[in-house]
Amino acid sequence: MVSRIIPVETFDLVIFGGTGDLARRKILPALFKRFCSGQVPDGSKLIGAARSDLTTQAYRALVAEALLEFVGDIASDAETVRAFCEHVHYVSVDARGETGWSALAAELSPGAVRAFYFSVGPGVYSDLARGLERHGLVGPETRIVVEKPFGHDLETAQALNRELAQHFDESQIYRIDHYLGKETVQNLMAVRFGNMLFEPLWNAQYIDHIQITVAETVGVAGRGDYYEKSGAMRDMVQNHLMQLLCLIAMEPPAQFEPDAVRDEKLKVIRALDAVQPHHIVRGQYTAADGAAAYREDVDNPRSKTESFVALKCQVNNWRWAGTPFYLRTGKRLSARDSEITVVFKDTPHSIFGPEAGRHRNELNIQLQPNEGITLNVTIKEPGPGGMRLVDVPLDMSFAEALGPKVQGSSDAYERLIMDVIRGNQTLFMRDDEVEAAWAWTDPIIHGWEARGDVPKPYDAFADGPDDAVVMMRRDGREWRGLDK
Ligand code: NAD
Repeated sequence: MVSRIIPVETFDLVIFGGTGDLARRKILPALFKRFCSGQVPDGSKLIGAARSDLTTQAYRALVAEALLEFVGDIASDAETVRAFCEHVHYVSVDARGETGWSALAAELSPGAVRAFYFSVGPGVYSDLARGLERHGLVGPETRIVVEKPFGHDLETAQALNRELAQHFDESQIYRIDHYLGKETVQNLMAVRFGNMLFEPLWNAQYIDHIQITVAETVGVAGRGDYYEKSGAMRDMVQNHLMQLLCLIAMEPPAQFEPDAVRDEKLKVIRALDAVQPHHIVRGQYTAADGAAAYREDVDNPRSKTESFVALKCQVNNWRWAGTPFYLRTGKRLSARDSEITVVFKDTPHSIFGPEAGRHRNELNIQLQPNEGITLNVTIKEPGPGGMRLVDVPLDMSFAEALGPKVQGSSDAYERLIMDVIRGNQTLFMRDDEVEAAWAWTDPIIHGWEARGDVPKPYDAFADGPDDAVVMMRRDGREWRGLDK
């Protein structure tokens, strides 16, 4: 049997912002899980770098605590945690100043793959890039990982791309969107391009419409300052939903290879039409069921920032002309549910007559909380009593189909970090992709600002404003209910 763990070379990974929330919640647990799978070779160093004045010993204690808190089920063996922490080091560096850089340089191993994870606020990215080069830490084996948000609009994204390009080659820059690392998102490509079954039907002739939903139950409390300047359009649509749209809509790339995939995604973004104002609904949650209103969460009683967006867009090319894409995302909705639904057209004629009812095939790709793919097919309801039709799911949920193998499947951050170490950019966004996504998003946001648009209120833990439902009904369609 072929090993499922692809070995990597010895590497140094420096986590700038190593004491922060993302490092503790996602990056360090992901590295620990890869360590447990034997993918952190001897001699590799995981170096936390932040402004706090900590010793390596104190940082190791912080790391052990984070592992217990976030992956306690697998971090209960003190010996394994101790062995992992042998790889962990800490250097106090001010990315915006001059202190700490030589200590960091001394920690790094010459010749090894060297990755710098920018897990700091976006205001620090440029200084960090400059600091790395000024202190001679950038070599041919250097990679940087840049977190979202990548810019605030087209202008700032272009400025950041220009700044990074002064210090790194594009092949060294990994703009992370963790949605692209999810097992099901990868599987979406396997389903589309590994089967003969779907691709011939994957076009406007057979597909009525496509829905992409990313619904969250959490509000914005604790991240209010950031969110108030961002809103759902910048925080979710410009990156995660657009990326999912690209993977669903793109043409088959010639190879599963970074630039081939990214070229096809870029073509999708460039083919998107401008969204008409009546094809977009903004919402903002109000207090309900014990949850505070958005405006209380961000401490701004006059806030016009949206915590919900639903929109209809069109990919203007031969494959998709006439098939709308409906995108929906929001906070404080009734369920945590990320999914893509491909709704096929009705059969051209029903031989079973009107009493058989209306039945459609639907392919549902569930990203969270449970990853899996379901295809609804229409069959005869078993038993006597004539030809009654019923839709049944062909369930491709991985846990059932693949049994214990899937339980070991890695989380998005594990996969993406290891791709950085291996030097595989397929699942990372290229400069032109990010800019094209902003070029599409900016006019929508500028339109709201120019009109002084106020988001429609919706109750916390409901399904968003009624206008979103009305927008769909105008087209004779319905949103798929959120999976509760
Ligand atoms: P945080 O505020 O919890 O942590 C920031 C870290 O950066 C701290 O370790 C801090 O010491 C360090 N830092 C700040 N200024 C520094 C400087 N001048 N020099 C060195 N270190 C410095 O933030 P976070 O939530 O961990 O987010 C980090 C980045 O990841 C942000 O860009 C954020 O937008 C992005 N992000 C976070 C999440 C998340 O779930 N937390 C999700 C997606 C993206």
